[in-house]
Amino acid sequence: MTDSKINLLGLDLKALTQTLVDLGEKPFRAQQILKWIHAESLSEFSEMTNLSKALRQKLMEHCIIQAPSVLSEHTAKDGTRKWLFQVEGAGAIETVYIPEPERATLCISSQVGCALNCRFCHTAQQGFQRNLTSSEIIGQVWYAVKTLKEEGNFKAIDRPITNVVLMGMGEPLLNFENVVMAVNIMLDDLAYGLSKRRVTLSTSGVVPAIDQLAEVTDIALAVSLHAPNDTLRTELVPINKKYPIKELLAACKRYLRDDKRRRITMEYVMLKDVNDQPEHAYELIKILKDVPSKVNLIPFNPFNGTKYQRSDDKVIQRFQDILMNAGLVTMKRKTRGDDIDAACGQLAGQVNDRTQRSAKFKQSLGITVPLKVVEREHSEQQV
Ligand code: SAH
Repeated sequence: MTDSKINLLGLDLKALTQTLVDLGEKPFRAQQILKWIHAESLSEFSEMTNLSKALRQKLMEHCIIQAPSVLSEHTAKDGTRKWLFQVEGAGAIETVYIPEPERATLCISSQVGCALNCRFCHTAQQGFQRNLTSSEIIGQVWYAVKTLKEEGNFKAIDRPITNVVLMGMGEPLLNFENVVMAVNIMLDDLAYGLSKRRVTLSTSGVVPAIDQLAEVTDIALAVSLHAPNDTLRTELVPINKKYPIKELLAACKRYLRDDKRRRITMEYVMLKDVNDQPEHAYELIKILKDVPSKVNLIPFNPFNGTKYQRSDDKVIQRFQDILMNAGLVTMKRKTRGDDIDAACGQLAGQVNDRTQRSAKFKQSLGITVPLKVVEREHSEQQV
């Protein structure tokens, strides 16, 4: 029944304005409605008190405000939370909330599954199911903000979410239009009002789409580099065959447009004895010489059936030291939410992975475990 209705949740100001004009309404109504939906977390037109009764009635007839429905929620010992959302006709996606003393980051998904087949990523094993709609993308933010506000537990940082990273399931640049629409809503002062520096899109390196992105926004960009030469990178991130490192780094530079304040985050997953040796670090220094960047070393998060292992802490430290000594800003990403499988590359694997589907799916529906389970001890792996 709702199929024929327009879901307003996923419309940015421009698209919402057009929708209202099409319904014979004044354009400024879009600003009011955008605010109600996103700043006030409403999903019922009847509560939009500055709209006339007639308009509310019309909206109810033609439109809907609908986020994907939640299947389960898990909270890790370190406070990291993971929501599993049902998406119509295509399994589930995951969203991770990472609270820290001075910020709170939401990691959102852009596709169900992924087509890119990066060797060390669990999402890749599920194959690609479909792109998320813009409502499903922003719906993750909408739901998290609404829930956190209701709980009222974010006093230290004055808003429930301060940062959004498109680092969940999927390749955001292969779902370009919907991702950009959702990003526009994140940045809009009438909606979430996040600054461009606090919204980060992570890409495996779809070069033409990086240029396209530069035409419409200048949000922060992270690139899944993971290797310092084409032979190794093609093995780990197969899209490198199509868009090799040189082209990728050139696109990164174009994206920054000579703005001295900006840098690209280079993500580098630390795989034991694969890409973590000093010679890799020296090669990395060379290729990043003239690309304003900061390096983010990600300890590999293992999953069932992977042939890769996480580099030892000492090895990661040595790698970091080499880069830092060469003047490269280098951070180690903290692994959060290990005990609920909320870490990078593990999202929704259990749900969409056919081999484990049935058991875990039941779990996610709360059939065998209650919401907010803490499954095992917070492990040593938290770097
Ligand atoms: N498709 C986008 C965003 C997805 S994942 C991209 O490729 O950038 C976000 C980051 O987590 C990427 O850098 C990805 O390579 C990394 N990642 C994937 N699987 C991982 C794993 N098992 N352990 C650690 N990092 C992983």
